[in-house]
Amino acid sequence: MRTAGRAPEDAEWAAHEAGAATGLVWAVVTTGIHCRDGCPARPLRKNTRVFDSRAEAEAAGFRACKRCGGGGAAG
Ligand SMILES: [Zn+2]
Repeated sequence: MRTAGRAPEDAEWAAHEAGAATGLVWAVVTTGIHCRDGCPARPLRKNTRVFDSRAEAEAAGFRACKRCGGGGAAG
C-alpha cells in the first residue's frame, strides 16, 4: 500500500488557511495534486494530506498543481 501522507494537524491547517508558510506539501486526495502554501485552491480538510517533501508526495502518486506549481522545492 502506498503512503498517503498524514492528516494535517489543527495548527498546520489553520496556518495553511491563513496563507502562512508551513513548509509542508499539501496533497489533495480527490484531485491527485499537491500544492504549496498559499495556493488559491482550497480543498476540504478531510480531503487533504500533508507530506514533508515534494518527493514524498510524488512518490505517493500526486502531481504538481498547475496553479501554484506544487508544494516543496521544485525539481
Ligand atoms: Zn496549488
